[in-house]
Amino acid sequence: MLSPVAAILPDASMVDFPGRLAAVFFVQGCNFCCGYCHNPDLRRSPAADLAGCLPWSGIDAACRRFRDNWTDAAVITGGEPTGSPLLVPLVERLRAHGFAVKLDTNGSRPDVLESLLPLLDYVAMDIKFPPADYPRRTGFADTAALGHSIALLKARGPAAEFRTTIVAAWHDEAAISSMGEWVHAAGDGTPAAQWYLQAFRPHGDLPDPACRNFPETPPPLLRSLAALLRPHALRTAIRGEF
Ligand code: SF4
Repeated sequence: MLSPVAAILPDASMVDFPGRLAAVFFVQGCNFCCGYCHNPDLRRSPAADLAGCLPWSGIDAACRRFRDNWTDAAVITGGEPTGSPLLVPLVERLRAHGFAVKLDTNGSRPDVLESLLPLLDYVAMDIKFPPADYPRRTGFADTAALGHSIALLKARGPAAEFRTTIVAAWHDEAAISSMGEWVHAAGDGTPAAQWYLQAFRPHGDLPDPACRNFPETPPPLLRSLAALLRPHALRTAIRGEF
């Protein structure tokens, strides 16, 4: 029997689950088409193609290996994991092995997210663009669904984070302010608990050829845009900067 996992990071990660050493599982399939996607091979529909995925026995073997090496947490990422009908069995499997579980999501399926929250220890949701830019930059237009996910995660406080990859050509001050106001207004209208910014890094295999030549985001730009988010999040930080 095949799992929804297309790949597993060979070594445990110290950066993907705050404060924990984590095994990272990549789930097949995504409903977005971001031009700057670093995992475009995972974007095929999970229903159409589980063929390249690992058997459940491989998941169990990997879990035992990680547990034997002091890893006590797991990150489910993608792709977009919430599109998989096998996500709940995967979360339950990882929990049965004793892992704390973090989910990475684009926030497009709040119904799936809400039903999973009792099983999750931490959630990271991408806030990619201002609502008006989502359709042309991601191919996804249901920003009301994204707003619902934002509200669900704001209610989780520090057990959830928002995060944004900053592309200098797309994220100017007006865009960041709009994103901050959108997140702030969602749900109960209070600031988010935490919001991380991270640098875009160009790569020759990115789906949008224009993105391949964009420059890496300079740290001063990350810092100045993070300052604009301070009214909208109790904690803002640059991921990868210490
Ligand atoms: S949501 Fe993530 S996995 Fe999906 S296309 Fe965008 S960057 Fe890639």
